[in-house]
Amino acid sequence: MSNDPHIPARRRRWPEGGSRPVATPLNPSVVYATPDPDALDAQYEGRSPGYSYAREGHPNADVLAQMLDRLEGGTGGVLTGSGMAALGAAVLASLRAGDHVLGGDQLYGRSLRMLAEDLPRLGIASSLADPTDAERFAAALRPETRMILVETVSNPTLRVADIAGIAELAKERGILLAVDNTFTTPRAIRPLAHGADIVIQSVTKLLAGHADATLGYVVARDPLLGAAMRTAATTWGLTPSPFDCWLAERGLLSFELRHDRASENAARLADHLAGQAGVARVLYPGRADHPDHARAGELFGCRFGNMLSFEIKGGRAAANAFTRACPNIAFAPTLGDISTTLSHPASSSHRALGAEGRAAMGIGEGFFRVSVGIEPVETLMEEMARGVAASLTA
Ligand SMILES: *Cc1c(COP(=O)(O)O)cnc(C)c1O
Repeated sequence: MSNDPHIPARRRRWPEGGSRPVATPLNPSVVYATPDPDALDAQYEGRSPGYSYAREGHPNADVLAQMLDRLEGGTGGVLTGSGMAALGAAVLASLRAGDHVLGGDQLYGRSLRMLAEDLPRLGIASSLADPTDAERFAAALRPETRMILVETVSNPTLRVADIAGIAELAKERGILLAVDNTFTTPRAIRPLAHGADIVIQSVTKLLAGHADATLGYVVARDPLLGAAMRTAATTWGLTPSPFDCWLAERGLLSFELRHDRASENAARLADHLAGQAGVARVLYPGRADHPDHARAGELFGCRFGNMLSFEIKGGRAAANAFTRACPNIAFAPTLGDISTTLSHPASSSHRALGAEGRAAMGIGEGFFRVSVGIEPVETLMEEMARGVAASLTA
């Protein structure tokens, strides 16, 4: 008998007895051992549950996927290593050379890049149209359009897509409708129930909610497409790490509470900012002066979300003064964290557009986007009021 110290570790069983853990165990194992080839056959043929290799699937991804499936109202959703990997899996599973993708004209920056620069190299054409107007969107469809990709609420101007109109178009013409639901989350809208064929989430944002895990999720209405996305994610290595899934699960348990508190804060902060002399305009779908307020109400009920944008009077100097006067609000280009974050599209997400391109979207140097967190709203109001006052004297 060897006294190799590795043997007990390789053969261990959890000493559970009659007790069981209340929290989901974190299982980082890359490989899973099976008793014999017959057992492996049974597993691969779906006759018995089990895992073989973590890139193909692991318990922490499965637990999280089931939770997200319930939230989005889908089945067989696939966890990926990032939101972009989720879009990658959707594209790789559904498109081929010769196809065309019609995207919303205000998609997430990396999604725009994928459409404009990466897909054409694979022989997949793309173009963009305004998704707030289904008629104009319809005019941009081509005979070879295979997929429509829209975000429910756009970044950073928070326009609301005509999901109903576009879903009807997609259905009529047999085009796959993919909806990136990151900004709105299933708390506000479940796109599958509105006719979407594919729903994509950057779980990194509100769902995980603590700015400590990068993850994505994609689910399809058609189980065959869902299976194809799972295969694409496995083959292209887009699958997630157990630790990130474990962290996200922990975050997701408080998602609804965080979402509602952050949205309540956002509504109050939007009104507060709109009352400041140094603020030129506030964009929040829950406000009556938002161009898509009525549509947002129809689609989201009263859940207008935690994202708001505003513009201060003055240029870059005013913007610098604003951020410096708000040291307790992280100036960081992300969203969905429990803490409020502030981003400045002109110097980050939208810098590649150039001043002219930004002007066409109404994004000047004084334009900020806020991902409102769950802090006491009074502290946010006070801090931002100091920021606005500082911007006026810059
Ligand atoms: C962040 C984000 C993504 C990409 O997600 P990652 O997890 O960062 O890869 C996609 N779409 C939207 C709307 C996002 O905000």
